[in-house]
Amino acid sequence: MSDSDVLNASVSELHRLLAARAISSEELTNTYLGQIEAENDALNAVITLCSEQALTDAREADQTLSRGEGNPLTGIPLLHKDIFCTQGVRTTCGSHMLESFEPAYDATVVTKLKAAGTVTLGKCNMDEFAMGSSNETSYFGAVKNPWDLNCVPGGSSGGSAAALAAGFAPLVTGTDTGGSIRQPASLCGITGLKPTYGRVSRLGIIAFASSLDQAGPMARSAEDCAHMLTAMSGIDAGDSTSADRAVPDFAAALNGEIEGLRIGIPREYFNEALNPEVRERIMAALSVLEKAGARLIDIDLPHTHYAIATYYVIAPAEASANLARYDGVRFGHRCDAPTDLEDLYLRSRSEGFGEEVQRRILVGTYALSSGFYDAYFNKAQQVRRIIAEDFHRAFEAVDVIAGPSAPNVAFQRGAKQQDPVAMYMEDVYTLAVNLAGLPGLSAPAGLINGMPVGLQLVGKAFDETTILNAAHRLQQDTDWHTLRPNFGAFQS
Ligand code: GLN
Repeated sequence: MSDSDVLNASVSELHRLLAARAISSEELTNTYLGQIEAENDALNAVITLCSEQALTDAREADQTLSRGEGNPLTGIPLLHKDIFCTQGVRTTCGSHMLESFEPAYDATVVTKLKAAGTVTLGKCNMDEFAMGSSNETSYFGAVKNPWDLNCVPGGSSGGSAAALAAGFAPLVTGTDTGGSIRQPASLCGITGLKPTYGRVSRLGIIAFASSLDQAGPMARSAEDCAHMLTAMSGIDAGDSTSADRAVPDFAAALNGEIEGLRIGIPREYFNEALNPEVRERIMAALSVLEKAGARLIDIDLPHTHYAIATYYVIAPAEASANLARYDGVRFGHRCDAPTDLEDLYLRSRSEGFGEEVQRRILVGTYALSSGFYDAYFNKAQQVRRIIAEDFHRAFEAVDVIAGPSAPNVAFQRGAKQQDPVAMYMEDVYTLAVNLAGLPGLSAPAGLINGMPVGLQLVGKAFDETTILNAAHRLQQDTDWHTLRPNFGAFQS
């Protein structure tokens, strides 16, 4: 098998090859490590490599497989977003503040994926503290999009998305607070799923906005995401917001049967913010699902236009509380030679946090301050409820809600850096889904001038299966998910 065959193989194919001992996990791991070493300088997608540990884990997986044991993920390499705590392995969250932080324990997601037999290759670059939509706020520098090196990969899981699209790993983890799995998945032409809030434990994931954060899989197909989601999910005694719900075998449930599936198309998602060419691609993808038996139904999510304002009060408010622990005493960077306690706090935080993080802390602290709490934070919580009710009402008549994942294809680096509000608009179609706690997925829907477009599918709470299955059907009937950037090993 050639390198590019391996790099194009699905997780199920890799599992078949591993189980038949046609390839070893050690070989696979070396192939991916080789890709990263050769191509990462051009992308800046990976910031820490764990080569030695990866090869040790791969050999262990090979022994398991030789005994005829293991499961679909045994011996499969992956990369983690650098927001997941990894014991003894630097975990930066894209920030100078945590530049040399080595966690004492693994995040539950990391533990679960290890227990499933995966091999951790390293850690991916990301927007600082997961705040951003372009992966330009990282202390470790911007990530480039392998489809066009002048363009952003999206954010905040931009390193993960770029790494996967470039063939650095067959699976990567991401987190999504307002769109950070779906928007970069869309901009990099891959499949990414934000699970229902509570489906996946948040223990050991560096907190941004605790009522919105969820971790999820990013991969080349819905089926690969399904394998990974099964391994990541489940109640965790260490996270009281994780849900006590049975975890289905998500991959086994994929049959591609969508006859009679009712797909709601929100009028509000096809507004003037949407690039007309993206609209065309999304309509083409929806007509593929219609041909396969789904029914398209116009719906309204009437409070959609409040989502950005609501999110940008709640997320910064929660972030300002979560980030209070980085004070140079308890966690994080400490300034040199402080003159007194106030100087220590002030300089440690000013030096450790970048501009966007400081902006969010200021906004959040203001919204939570005693004089403004009712006017901003409380009001935002009330509107959040109204937005969630829009979805609940819509789901009385439909099974899935579909639309674009992002209003545009990837934009040029630097294009929105001076205008935070233009950047916030990138998540106009994704963040209401977090406010409502629902599962959402982005799947490739073709290219515009060589740049990927993503179709978003939103499901009912804890019904990841239905959106995965619709995406699976789309991927049976089209080849958009098999398109690769003209980069590295995929170069023609
Ligand atoms: N882009 C959004 C923000 O900057 C969402 C980020 C995320 O989902 N982590 O907050």
